[in-house]
Amino acid sequence: MENKNERYDVIIIGGGPAGLTSGLYTSRARLNSLLVEKGCTGGQVATIDWIENYPGFEEGISGMELSEKMEKQAKKFGLEIIQGTVTEISLDGKTKRILLEEGNGLESKAVIIATGANPKPLDIEGEASYRGRGVSYCATCDGAFFRDKRVAVIGGGNSAVQEALFLTKLAEVVYIVHRRDELRATKVVQDRAFSHPKIKFIWNSLVEKIKGKDMVTGLLLKNVMTGDVSTLDVEGVFIYVGYSPNTKFLKGLLKLDKDNYIITDEEMATSVPGIFAAGDVRAKSLKQITTAVGDGAVAGVSAEKYILQMK
Ligand code: NAP
Repeated sequence: MENKNERYDVIIIGGGPAGLTSGLYTSRARLNSLLVEKGCTGGQVATIDWIENYPGFEEGISGMELSEKMEKQAKKFGLEIIQGTVTEISLDGKTKRILLEEGNGLESKAVIIATGANPKPLDIEGEASYRGRGVSYCATCDGAFFRDKRVAVIGGGNSAVQEALFLTKLAEVVYIVHRRDELRATKVVQDRAFSHPKIKFIWNSLVEKIKGKDMVTGLLLKNVMTGDVSTLDVEGVFIYVGYSPNTKFLKGLLKLDKDNYIITDEEMATSVPGIFAAGDVRAKSLKQITTAVGDGAVAGVSAEKYILQMK
């Protein structure tokens, strides 16, 4: 893209289900809409092997296919999508200025932030140094490297247990290491994991250190009940201990909650008029694809109403 200011009605930041749905709604409202995505469209969803709780697909659908369908549908109605990383949003009266790392400046009347969240690290010894050499945050992306090997998944939420189930298709054995003795994941997912012959649970345990030579060779575990320390020999470790929101680029522009998620009202309006937020980046209790697309629709319609009342 040329280095010039370009004006839009709405700029959507983030191309996951929330952003793509916002774009579908604003494009159908005939607003000149641009979506800026730093990687590939789909966001976290594109990395999910199989999705069973998105209505309309009774047999389930792969995350990649669902993302592609959402993108095609939004583009059909005129949504423009570019690749870029937003580094700052500033205000000039009612105009919003979007600065991209690539040097471009963009302008719009309304902005929808749908930047989602990134996997949280464990922040332990060995994690950063073995990243890509046995440490992963994406089983769908990296699972194939661990065919017939022993792997561990850290965490007890939906992501950890679902991705452990995915890894059983490849790995010899999958250990789920959880800090409590009860999973947080949905019951149907729990039941599948409990009855899977390749999944073994290590309860009440924290990972103290990731050990290795050139590649990961094992985990140093500490039982939180007994204090016992042990080594688990694995060649891969998949970390699923929650997410943190992508809000750093906002630099204090919007009100955030204590965990840095964007605070909105029911119309997805943030603390700055004309800036809306949708999906996992927003402070809310249920983070699902279904709720992200719901947020995206509301944000799109709210942006349209905001622009109409400007005239
Ligand atoms: P999550 O639900 O926040 O679970 C994080 C897990 O990691 C919890 O079991 C937590 O333990 C554990 N944990 C956190 N910090 C840890 C640490 N420092 N050391 C060891 N363990 C730690 O995260 P998620 O599973 O990524 O899910 C995020 C959101 O997406 C949730 O709302 C989830 O329901 C949703 N999601 C939905 C689906 C689906 O519906 N198909 C799939 C994936 C994710 P505690 O349990 O002890 O807190």
